[in-house]
Amino acid sequence: MSQVVTRIAPSPTGDMHIGTARTALFNWLYAKGRGGKFLIRVEDTDRERSTQTAVDKLFEGFAWLELFSDEPPVFQYGRIERHKAVVEDLLARGAAYRCWMSPDETQAEREAAKAENRRFVSPWRDRTDGDPGEPFVVRFKGPLDGDVVVRDLVQGEVRWQARHLDDLVLLRSDGNPTYNLAVVVDDHDMGVTHVIRGDDHLNNTPKQQLIYQALGWALPAFAHIPLIYGDDGKKLSKRHGATAVGEYADLGYLPEAMRNYLARLSWGHGDDELFSDEQAMAWFDVADVSKAPSRLDFDKLAHVNAHWMKLADDSRLARLTREALARRGADLWEGDDARLTRAIPYLKDRARTVVELADQAGFVLRRRPVELDERTRGLLDEAGRARLERLRRRLSLFESWDVFALEAELKAFAEDEGVGFGKIGPLVRGALTGGSPSPDLAKTLAALGMEESLGRLDDALST
Ligand code: GLU
Repeated sequence: MSQVVTRIAPSPTGDMHIGTARTALFNWLYAKGRGGKFLIRVEDTDRERSTQTAVDKLFEGFAWLELFSDEPPVFQYGRIERHKAVVEDLLARGAAYRCWMSPDETQAEREAAKAENRRFVSPWRDRTDGDPGEPFVVRFKGPLDGDVVVRDLVQGEVRWQARHLDDLVLLRSDGNPTYNLAVVVDDHDMGVTHVIRGDDHLNNTPKQQLIYQALGWALPAFAHIPLIYGDDGKKLSKRHGATAVGEYADLGYLPEAMRNYLARLSWGHGDDELFSDEQAMAWFDVADVSKAPSRLDFDKLAHVNAHWMKLADDSRLARLTREALARRGADLWEGDDARLTRAIPYLKDRARTVVELADQAGFVLRRRPVELDERTRGLLDEAGRARLERLRRRLSLFESWDVFALEAELKAFAEDEGVGFGKIGPLVRGALTGGSPSPDLAKTLAALGMEESLGRLDDALST
């Protein structure tokens, strides 16, 4: 069998939708799991709606998701001459015709066809004597009867009656090729073997299939996958939460978690919830995708993300946390990366997203002397200071500054002081953090490191 080639073909007209990410992922998994190629084609032929900002967002989105094209991306508009040449070829083969119907005539025929429940028929279907100087469109000369049958890997066998398929416009009167023509030519020229796309394109498929056949080109396999819905079963929109890929990055999800989660929308491998790219590639078959739309569940996504956060490298999480803090306008300095990297292991098991990590990282980044909150100042009476002083001395002699040893040491200290831990925790934690949220005391000390911890205790003692 020849090499599998898949593609994602987004139109750059706005934000990159999460559905585009999922469709890209299925194409990528299918190709990569079979030693094939995954390609990106930007469908920028709609010159009014396509923007450079949207193109940039697409490539940022693909780069973030780590879904890279195996060949330089194709820009559809750049291939317009080729599309026009194929239209000429279809004309020469008698599979297309020039149609000089005026907009009014077209409208009238459209209404008549509807009223009589028949297909739209142009009087130019079998005529060639129009005036080439007058505006015309080129239409595909489709069959008048019989069925067009598409064998779809997800939807099964889908049948259309030819008498309902109008003669599709291939070339507009302004000389621009239409979407259905361009898609067929590009997929053919790019060697695409499997067209995996949203099921909103299913109705275009019989028309495209007829064009392939008229050109004598081999058909690719088609697979129309269901769209993503919101938790209420309605088509995903802003109302449900984030819809743009960039928003998910800003919400603190990791790309590997997104891939893992998105793969499970209308597809799955038994009950497996957490799996790697390699596993997904080995398991994924587009034929196993369900026809039913799936619902985006932010709780499940957070659960999957929490798993990948635990496996993620600490310095990477530190960098992402720093970026999240910078987006909030935090005033950061150069030492912060090292501090964050040291603190991450003690913070990450409580955080489901990078944003939650950033919420907790504040105490690590506070500058000495840390300003103490009122509660801590209240605890620093004479007895409190004396106790903190004794702990400071003890900790300064401490040799193994790790979380388990610190935990044992704090417990021993409380026992020696003859008090419960409740008498010690708030005081010490307040002195270290000024009252910012932080994990339990041993973790807070471990996250800050010895030098910083002792320094902060000194500062509190000297207030
Ligand atoms: N450009 C089309 C879209 O963004 C996709 C075309 C295709 O996948 O065939 O919906």
